[in-house]
Amino acid sequence: MRIAVHDKDRCKPKLCNFLCMRVCPVNRTGGECIVEDGAGKVRISEVLCTGCGICVKKCPFGAIKIINLPEQLDEPVHQYGVNGFRLFNLPMPRSGVTGIVGSNGIGKSTALKILSGEIQPNLGDSAGWEEVLDRYRGTEMHDFLKKLSEKSIKASFKPQYVESIPRIINGRVIDILAKVDELGKLNEVVDDLDLKNSLEKDITEVSGGELQRVALAACLIRDADIYLIDEPSSYLDVRERLNAAKAIRKTTEKIVYVVEHDLVVLDYLSDNIHVIFGEQGGYGIISNIMGTRAGINEYLTGFLRSENMRFREEIRFGVKPPTSTKKMSVLVEYPEIRKKYDRFSLEVDAGTVKTPTIRGILGPNATGKTTFMKILANTEKPDGKEVSIGVRISYKPQYIKATEEVVISLNMKGELIDRFRLTHLLDKKLCELSGGELQRVAIADCLSKDADIYMLDEPSAYLDVEERLSLAKYLHSFGYDNKASVMVIEHDILLIDYLSDELMVFSGESGVFGKASGPHDMREGMNMFLKEMDVTFRRDPDSGRPRANKKDSQKDRQQRESGQYYYSG
Ligand code: ADP
Ligand code: ADP
Ligand code: MG
Repeated sequence: MRIAVHDKDRCKPKLCNFLCMRVCPVNRTGGECIVEDGAGKVRISEVLCTGCGICVKKCPFGAIKIINLPEQLDEPVHQYGVNGFRLFNLPMPRSGVTGIVGSNGIGKSTALKILSGEIQPNLGDSAGWEEVLDRYRGTEMHDFLKKLSEKSIKASFKPQYVESIPRIINGRVIDILAKVDELGKLNEVVDDLDLKNSLEKDITEVSGGELQRVALAACLIRDADIYLIDEPSSYLDVRERLNAAKAIRKTTEKIVYVVEHDLVVLDYLSDNIHVIFGEQGGYGIISNIMGTRAGINEYLTGFLRSENMRFREEIRFGVKPPTSTKKMSVLVEYPEIRKKYDRFSLEVDAGTVKTPTIRGILGPNATGKTTFMKILANTEKPDGKEVSIGVRISYKPQYIKATEEVVISLNMKGELIDRFRLTHLLDKKLCELSGGELQRVAIADCLSKDADIYMLDEPSAYLDVEERLSLAKYLHSFGYDNKASVMVIEHDILLIDYLSDELMVFSGESGVFGKASGPHDMREGMNMFLKEMDVTFRRDPDSGRPRANKKDSQKDRQQRESGQYYYSG
């Protein structure tokens, strides 16, 4: 089956004068394949479309997709209007934590919204509940949908974009949480998520990480039948991510769905997972349910066995022999660094930057990681003597300013435009981009410059899992091919593990003081960091990816006893 998907936001007939209608061969011979839709945009007939792809190529805004679907599929369970995105199926709700993994724009939030009752499924057209229930009659899904149709399912939702919360709700954190504490679990959850020091603050004053934890707390203390948690780890550091995962896992007698792009976190919190695949903005299909370990491994291989479906090339995280940086050449040495702000002080050991190396930088939020990068990049002054390392630095900041600047002026390398899928963004202004698009532009911009040291401050923020994996693979070869030094501040352990030759570890008390040591070799650095985090990691024998051990499991106890928090063997 062939479908035509048309992005109404991108479609700008005023600028192209309906170019697609003019080039369509069916239209040119008198047919009405592409027509004006009555609202100033276009509609494409899937019956008349021959799949020639000319409109797709000619549309200057990349607004049209003609997609051949992989196999004979049923009609979609939901479609956003004519030529809109289609979701083909739903996961079957069951108790326990079910993870959902897949790229952005593939229907994850749509699926969650249907399960929560927020969207009524329309079977691709304008079906009502009766027709929906008819289609599912005799299946396990029927009972759940019936309850949804009767509005007798109560859902508790943690939205993806926590930034918008302070615009909707106001007041002190404690008052906001107390109001929704239907389970009487407020104190327990505040402990689990380490929110004690945030309770008295006004919701407009908390940091991104606090906001994420407040939003998660509000979701978990409600009394609901189904909990839907969309990307809980954004803005959180490693310890906070693991704590959030543990808190979510206390709700396993209920139905819990979690969308997550950090594969270590997804692995740690899920009982089972679904992969969702298809085409971004086009259509989505939810895989059969899989055990977490096998499911994530299948996801990395890009091949779903029970569906017999390849959705991309394999991404391998082979265990590399620990890289020795001893033989690499020294690019610069930097002295001890000290910096005091009103309420925060930082101490960084003197160190050496070698090429080519990739340095991972790990540590809790607000311990001075960004400040360290800024001082090396000479955009912030340290106390005492200036740190002048006299090499070219290209720096991608943590927070990217979305200015009026037009993207195309950024002078990016063609290879990076392809790699980071920026072609269709080139005519846009930075302030029009989504978080993930802005991040991709900023990374490509940073890597397009000629430099000796490339610094990337939390590049995975807002990126989906596919983009993270592709970034990891790319950065690795980028550093070596360009004989450059790459430094990456990250909370996604899978990326750090895959990328880094050496590690710098920050510790201290968030917002009060920070102390950094290193660079250490991977084993030493990871051991230090994980000991501080109080968690041990093993390696998956099949995929080579790192996995967090459950506390007090046999492996966890063995590794703690032998001091091997990071099992690299
Ligand atoms: P994900 O959560 O996987 O990022 P979503 O389920 O939010 O994806 O969206 C899937 C696709 O559906 C996207 O292409 C999005 O643009 C489209 N979409 C989402 N909501 C709507 C809507 N209300 N109307 C039209 N299209 C929508
Ligand atoms: P990290 O990158 O590890 O999250 P940062 O280096 O951004 O941490 O910040 C460390 C601490 O320093 C934070 O508590 C932050 O509020 C404080 N800080 C950063 N920049 C300034 C500044 N210009 N003035 C005062 N305090 C600052
Ligand atoms: Mg930072």
